[in-house]
Amino acid sequence: MKISPIKLIDENGRRIDGRLPHEIRKVKIESGVLKNADGSAYIELGNNKIIVAVYGPREVYPKHQALADRALLRCRYSMAPFSVEERKTPSPTRREIELSKVIREALEPAIFLEEYPRTAIDVFIEVLEADGGTRTASITAASVALADAGIPMRDLVTAIAIGKVEGLLVVDLNGLEDQYGEGDMPIAMMPQLGYVTLFQADGRFTAEELKEAFKLANDAIKKIYEEQKQALKRKYLKVAEIGEI
Ligand code: ADP
Repeated sequence: MKISPIKLIDENGRRIDGRLPHEIRKVKIESGVLKNADGSAYIELGNNKIIVAVYGPREVYPKHQALADRALLRCRYSMAPFSVEERKTPSPTRREIELSKVIREALEPAIFLEEYPRTAIDVFIEVLEADGGTRTASITAASVALADAGIPMRDLVTAIAIGKVEGLLVVDLNGLEDQYGEGDMPIAMMPQLGYVTLFQADGRFTAEELKEAFKLANDAIKKIYEEQKQALKRKYLKVAEIGEI
């Protein structure tokens, strides 16, 4: 944790972007944004802008990676060099490799992988602009893209980060809060089923704070879940209207 050069919560209890502690940033989700992909989605969560393309189920290359009893889920999380203030190297960093794994593990429980043995499902995540919480926004968008690809799922996966800033639990950390806050807890859930598919924690939280964090995550996730469903519905309403995808 770094010492913050600025006050992150003002005297009225507002955060640096004007939000109250339990408010999420403005969220916008669209599905079916790429014609060439089998499924796709775009999310804006505050300043984060992320696009996801899904391909598959399709043949596995290299063939030896194929699994006899289920589909192989592959995820690639990648940040554009221009997505952060200082140019990020275009080659995959350790952080991107780790996040690719974390995101795959958060999505895996939701997909009926056993229905497609010996195939691969590829999820490409491109972060165009990053401002804290890209892993959670990526998971949220990727599950919409998977559903858009028509891949059978138990539920969508929805994710949000809960953090601690100046001793206060806050929902959906922005970049500065992420950088200077005391803790960060990304959580992903299958909202309808009530299962948690990702839980990470960085920083110190008491048992009481953990309980409260899950309650806050649950409330935020419900709101984002509605946006995910609307994004999927909108695409099919459009298809019904104009008769093509
Ligand atoms: P998440 O985006 O899931 O919160 P991190 O906690 O690792 O993941 O990163 C927090 C934030 O730090 C990112 O959302 C981004 O705004 C910023 N960040 C990450 N990598 C870089 C980088 N290479 N250069 C500048 N900022 C970065």
